[in-house]
Amino acid sequence: MTDFSGKFKLVQGDITRVTVDAIVNAANNSLLGGGGVDGAIHRAGGRAILEECKKIRARQGGCPTGKAVITTAGRLPAQFVIHTVGPVWQGGTHGEDQLLASCYQQSIKLAELHQLSSIAFPNISTGVYGFPKARAVQIAIQAIRDHLPQCQYLQQVMFICHDHENYDLYQDLLNR
Ligand code: ADP
Repeated sequence: MTDFSGKFKLVQGDITRVTVDAIVNAANNSLLGGGGVDGAIHRAGGRAILEECKKIRARQGGCPTGKAVITTAGRLPAQFVIHTVGPVWQGGTHGEDQLLASCYQQSIKLAELHQLSSIAFPNISTGVYGFPKARAVQIAIQAIRDHLPQCQYLQQVMFICHDHENYDLYQDLLNR
């Protein structure tokens, strides 16, 4: 684990094992679970997460890309799961950059609304959704650097990298 000036932490590992106020899920529009980090979170957290997702879905028909919703974290060590839907990479000309930045901003906004002090992000959209990793890392860090100063409650942001490539990219950029 690497600590960057107090507020940012970089960790290589599994987000379902992280003890923070909220972990972020790279969900899909249906909110009904999927593969990758989404599958891991639902498997480890149990049915309570899916039950709340279903209620949100009944109320507002899922979650639009770039937006976020919050549920219990069930059996996970975190208190809450913030589900955000990253863009599917379509070459970069379909608003992907703005939508990805929005995922980070909206997640932070929800955390603040719930007066949470710590949040952990996976590398949204860089798995099955195919977003180029180096570009995604830049967007993630910039979006958070832009919004953290306005936060009253949020003290710590963790980036949980499941793969080495993302970890190295974050390490490079956070060290600059
Ligand atoms: P997306 O559909 O948004 O691309 P994926 O789940 O396919 O979502 O991948 C997003 C990122 O989550 C990838 O970088 C992948 O390596 C990572 N990932 C997969 N499982 C986990 C996990 N248990 N903890 C943290 N990150 C994970």
